[in-house]
Amino acid sequence: MDWDIEADVVVVGFGAAGACAALEASAAGCSVVVLDRFAGGGATALSGGVVYAGGGTPHQRAAGVTDSPAAMFGYLRTEVGDVVPAETLREFCDGSAAMLAWLESHGVPFEGSLCPDKTSYPTNRHYLYYSGSETSARDAAPPAPRGHRTFGRGTSGGLLFARLADAVRRAGVQVVEQTAAVRLITGDGRVTGVECRTLHGAPWWARTAHRALHRLARKPYLYMPKAGRVMHRPVSWLERRYGRPLLARAGRGVVIAAGGFGANKEMLRAYAPSARGGLPLATPGDDGSGVLLGTGAGGAAALLDRVSVWRFLSPPPALLRGVLVDADGKRICDESRYGAALGDEIVRHGGRAWLLADRATIAAARRQVRSSTLWFQRLQAWHLLTFGRVSADSVPGVAARAGVDPDGLTATVAAYNTVAGNAGPADGSADPAGKPADLVGPQDQPPYSLIDVSVRPRLMYPAPVLTLGGLVVDPGTGQVLRADGSAVPGLYAAGRSAVGLCSRSYVSGLSIADCVFSGRRAGRHAAAAQQIKKAADS
Ligand SMILES: Cc1cc2nc3c(=O)[nH]c(=O)nc-3n(C[C@H](O)[C@H](O)[C@H](O)COP(=O)(O)OP(=O)(O)OC[C@H]3O[C@@H](n4cnc5c(N)ncnc54)[C@H](O)[C@@H]3O)c2cc1C
Repeated sequence: MDWDIEADVVVVGFGAAGACAALEASAAGCSVVVLDRFAGGGATALSGGVVYAGGGTPHQRAAGVTDSPAAMFGYLRTEVGDVVPAETLREFCDGSAAMLAWLESHGVPFEGSLCPDKTSYPTNRHYLYYSGSETSARDAAPPAPRGHRTFGRGTSGGLLFARLADAVRRAGVQVVEQTAAVRLITGDGRVTGVECRTLHGAPWWARTAHRALHRLARKPYLYMPKAGRVMHRPVSWLERRYGRPLLARAGRGVVIAAGGFGANKEMLRAYAPSARGGLPLATPGDDGSGVLLGTGAGGAAALLDRVSVWRFLSPPPALLRGVLVDADGKRICDESRYGAALGDEIVRHGGRAWLLADRATIAAARRQVRSSTLWFQRLQAWHLLTFGRVSADSVPGVAARAGVDPDGLTATVAAYNTVAGNAGPADGSADPAGKPADLVGPQDQPPYSLIDVSVRPRLMYPAPVLTLGGLVVDPGTGQVLRADGSAVPGLYAAGRSAVGLCSRSYVSGLSIADCVFSGRRAGRHAAAAQQIKKAADS
């Protein structure tokens, strides 16, 4: 076979997982090539740059936070369940502070200013926060803030990726952009390389237009998918018109790190119907090709039905005092849980949900909007506090206006206010749903509002959806497994192309943390695999 490119390890996809795999394989002394359909970055570069880390990081200590690997394990076990073995989760927690230090050694900055409020994403004044449902799960483990937001203004995933990308290039890794993997090549029963379509050799203007149009379409694709898809069409056309084949040989292994499948409508419809009504949090690269490359080579996929649907009530944090109810007026859950947990519960209740808030809560929320939000949160908060709610002078009245069962809501609010009136045990909450006592405020001052927080298509208050399932991998090595549990020789997967730590339940930062953990694992093990002789290629 005539190979165009040869390396020990070939990584498909240049986001967080691919970059971390490349760094580890290169550090082990291997030649490494990274292929990316675009210029790299993927969802990582558009993300909030939050990394879930704990067990006593220097930034937690600087903020006066007490944490331990055991406490981190205790909490994460409630989120992660058994999607990875307990030993893998323990390894992740025990090594978490060191993982953050590893990222810092590659130039990714973190900082310990602690956010005082529960929020979906802290403002530029804070870089450490409760990014999961730790306080709600305080019976499982002592809570600690573990959301380490990359230290940079705005949504700082761009900075996180830029620093990793610099480190990859400094390490001498060859990054081949504008090159999409379309099939894995096998020989003698193992994966030996990757068949690609590349724009290398295409007219300069086609490559420039491909790069520029993709860049232009990325954000609309995320926030206004219909417009983004239209804007991205010429990019795919350029690939079809000017792409040519390219063969990359992997002497030791191929690592698939090509993101999720949120941009693949057919896969979403087939595997994750609960995502309907949500806004897929996906880039054009999340077309499922990572999973499909792996299954095409015999690998098994799992948990494709697991999607994380986000419904954040805070910021503004005052809204967490409200009561979250379904169409029957019944309380759904502890309102202070993480947005993905709320989203899950709302979907379980048929997708319809409202937050009941009284005059005092709405007024407090209004006062907090400016100081507690970044621009994208500010728009949503204003929408919820204005056009997104109905009000009336009585609880049955507001229920009738919103289409919620008045009797059910009246009973729920009465029960909540009884608890709120008695609330305040210093050591915990009297709330049967488990909301911390300081957030259980009585909702008894008319007028009452019902804010519609249903999961359905809405321009101003979309419900972001992240795909969590992927290729099944060996938890010790990251090697892709077949349905019978045997490994596909020469093939590894990481990040959102694989089943990982966040595949059951996402909390902010756990996806990128998993990308780092699983990317490094795959890179290390691919590098340690036996070098294959060229005769095995076919
Ligand atoms: C707006 C937003 C905010 C988020 N905030 C956070 C956060 O703060 N913390 C957190 O943990 N998670 C967050 N997430 C989720 C998280 O960013 C992603 O799950 C994670 O970055 C995925 O990383 P990855 O390396 O698996 O894939 P990606 O970063 O998406 O990288 C995959 C790369 O593969 C390339 N690719 C795809 N197919 C092919 C192919 N066939 N051939 C070659 N290349 C290919 C793509 O072009 C892309 O560059 C956020 C997501 C979004 C969209």
